[in-house]
Amino acid sequence: HLQDTTTLHNGVNMPWLGLGVFKVEEGAELIQAIKSAIRHGYRSIDTAAIYENETGVGQAIQEALQENSLSREELFVTSKVWTADMGYEETIAAYETSLAKLGLEYLDLYLIHWPVKGKYKESWRALETLYKEGRVKAIGVSNFQIHHLEDVLKDAEIKPMVNQVELHPYLNQQELLDFCKEQGIQLEAWSPLMQGQLFDQPVLKQIAVKHDKSVAQVIVRWDLQRGIITIPKSTKEHRIVENVDVFDFKLSDEDMTLINSLNQDQRVGPDPDHFD
Ligand code: NAD
Repeated sequence: HLQDTTTLHNGVNMPWLGLGVFKVEEGAELIQAIKSAIRHGYRSIDTAAIYENETGVGQAIQEALQENSLSREELFVTSKVWTADMGYEETIAAYETSLAKLGLEYLDLYLIHWPVKGKYKESWRALETLYKEGRVKAIGVSNFQIHHLEDVLKDAEIKPMVNQVELHPYLNQQELLDFCKEQGIQLEAWSPLMQGQLFDQPVLKQIAVKHDKSVAQVIVRWDLQRGIITIPKSTKEHRIVENVDVFDFKLSDEDMTLINSLNQDQRVGPDPDHFD
């Protein structure tokens, strides 16, 4: 079910599926996308300060809550602190700015967007403070490799609840998934559809045809069956609906193995070890 949740290690429930809004500018398209997602049952929205659309996201959320008679607690909103705001005070201030733009009193999840070398641990301390003060429901990281997580865990008072990373059939992140599972950190996939580059992939097409589903649906299903939260992005209503219409079929063990074997460690985004 679209509103099914996983329980993070601090007891907070997070939907397995959400809508990503990367590269969607402020304006009617953004508002319509979020409102149609919520109308069709999405309960999780993923944005970030750097997407420069938090004001529009906030407006859409307010309208959608009203129109669907939902309360704030029924939605799960994620944002991220950008690399320019690394540091303790800077991160606290960035959180306040994001809240103000979104027009919200709290976020459900706040993430460190990228592991900026030498700086992310001070930002992690700030997230811990925000969490301990009850100003955010859950905290986590994004684009952290195993060594970044190990580094944070050395000094952390609070273990990250989520790690959001690039993850799709050409970058299946198996080692990181195993590590996160061991640690009780929930893995979340960004660019799950590899930004549209996998729709002609022959193995995925063959599996999709067999199940009478689309490649996008097969990929989303593969994420869920691996225990990974996923946030495919679309602004088109029919795709917003299509991408989460994944509860009437199941990939077989053989399908899963075949998809896992497509891995090429190929990225569409930056390499977290060479990002600053
Ligand atoms: P994605 O893999 O979700 O692909 C989105 C693109 O695929 C869309 O623009 C659309 O063109 C196409 N598409 C979507 N559904 C389709 C369908 N059913 N049929 C045909 N085409 C379809 O790419 P993304 O937007 O990069 O990633 C998803 C979300 O992840 C983002 O919106 C953002 O919220 C998040 N993200 C996070 C980071 C990070 O550093 N933490 C980086 C990138 C993205």
